Amino acid sequence: MRAIDVRDLLETPGSSRTVHVEEPVPGLRTELADVPEDTPIAADLTLESVVEGIFVRGSLEGRFAMRCARCLKTFERDFDVEMTELVAREPGPDDDYALEPDLTLDPEPIVRDAVVLEMPFSPLCRPDCLGLCEICGGDRNLGECPGHEITDPRWDALDVLLQHLEPPPDEEPSDDDERTTTR
Ligand SMILES: [Zn+2]
Ligand SMILES: [Zn+2]
Repeated sequence: MRAIDVRDLLETPGSSRTVHVEEPVPGLRTELADVPEDTPIAADLTLESVVEGIFVRGSLEGRFAMRCARCLKTFERDFDVEMTELVAREPGPDDDYALEPDLTLDPEPIVRDAVVLEMPFSPLCRPDCLGLCEICGGDRNLGECPGHEITDPRWDALDVLLQHLEPPPDEEPSDDDERTTTR
């Protein structure tokens, strides 16, 4: 994001100004959510000159692309984040943000932190998403899973085995049978 020149504000403590910033912020990504790099984040910020530096207040709007933690479907959702931060002129140990040496303000670190905090850790396509069947992988939301009668998981492996066995050959008796009967 482009730096904002705030020298005029710093000259007059108590003064304020609003700015509109609308730019993509790359690299906003967690395991199941991200802000697509071609989608800008729009920020309406009020910059207020205080003794310590510039007080930044405002809202951020953009769009998350997410993957449902239960059914893995991708979906998008708009976000709207409020934030309030001090960008210090002479940062101390408790200050998270500082003005640049040339007295400009880079909004990107503040925007980045506020948006990352808002990113859902475990996004759901809808609150009551039924997820995928652990046995057949069908999407329960779409009724893809027929339901399974055998509930003991030990039998599932046997079922799969039986399905893969070749049907017995028609010729009889087989060599194996002869051997067992002659002994
Ligand atoms: Zn889902
Ligand atoms: Zn199933």
